[in-house]
Amino acid sequence: MFCVECGRDGPTTDGLCATCFATRHRVVRPPDHVDAARCRSCGAIRIGNAWTHVDLKEAIPLLIREAVPPLAPFKEVRFLHAAREEDANNLSLDVTAVGRYGELEQADRFRARLRLKPSLCETCTKQKSRYFQGILQVRGEGRELTPKEVRTVRTFVQARVDRARGAGEFVSRLDEIDGGLDFYVSTNALGKVLAREVAGTFGGAVTTSPKLFGQRGGKEIYRVTSLVRLPPFQVGDVVRHKHAVSEVLRVAGFVTIRDLASGEARRFKARDLRGARRVEAERFEATLERSESGEIVADHPETGRTQSVSTRDAAPGRAVVVWTDDAAYVSALPMDASKA
Ligand SMILES: [Zn+2]
Ligand SMILES: [Zn+2]
Repeated sequence: MFCVECGRDGPTTDGLCATCFATRHRVVRPPDHVDAARCRSCGAIRIGNAWTHVDLKEAIPLLIREAVPPLAPFKEVRFLHAAREEDANNLSLDVTAVGRYGELEQADRFRARLRLKPSLCETCTKQKSRYFQGILQVRGEGRELTPKEVRTVRTFVQARVDRARGAGEFVSRLDEIDGGLDFYVSTNALGKVLAREVAGTFGGAVTTSPKLFGQRGGKEIYRVTSLVRLPPFQVGDVVRHKHAVSEVLRVAGFVTIRDLASGEARRFKARDLRGARRVEAERFEATLERSESGEIVADHPETGRTQSVSTRDAAPGRAVVVWTDDAAYVSALPMDASKA
């Protein structure tokens, strides 16, 4: 085939050789600049209509594609680019647009500036306006939260919400009150999920109470308060439950307590341990010995007082001892598992 323009022999597209085709048709119309909104609070980048949490590196090809459509007769175009930072909000782009039309592949090169416009995404706008729908309350059952619980629950909730940030979830306010925590969260669903997860991790029971808040478009709007009550005790606590003295082994989800005399461990729902009461107890490492009468005994390391060990199957040797006013037991927990 001969090119109708220059007469050169070779493959043609619409009668033109590749060189002549390229002088008549460009793959894209090079833009002066590509603009993109970037949230100055969370760094999300607006791509199309969506605020997206991606690295700038991953966003650039999407932004170019968005801003630079192919010109007819090219229907598809792929981009190769190199980006160089000019300053915090401007990058210079060196772009090659590769278009395909029938058998012809044509590459056009252009330069453009990518301008990142500092703005505020929808989620951050709502969060900064202190918008909330649901409330998550975390309390202790019949007690205040310990400072360590306050810290760990805060960190846990924050990490969980940060992961849901891309879905527009956030905490707009956090109050530390009445020995507990109140989180004001973006949706009722988030409040409920967080309550379940806090209870699953730290133990405790969840109750939810919806309150009619208003109407919008004929629909009733509810605010749901999800309340987690953490168990009345913590790992390492010693409790009296149904006349048996037990130590608390686990409080995640269910509460596992171990009868210190029989050594048997059992799981309870937190609410089924409401009748259990804490017993003052010390915990220390000691060497158990067999007395002349054949009992296993332990000495208090400070007072020197000796008590017989009431735990079945206790044997001489080093052990972690649970010491109450009227008995000594062998603990199944390591020394450092106690007390928050
Ligand atoms: Zn030609
Ligand atoms: Zn944002």
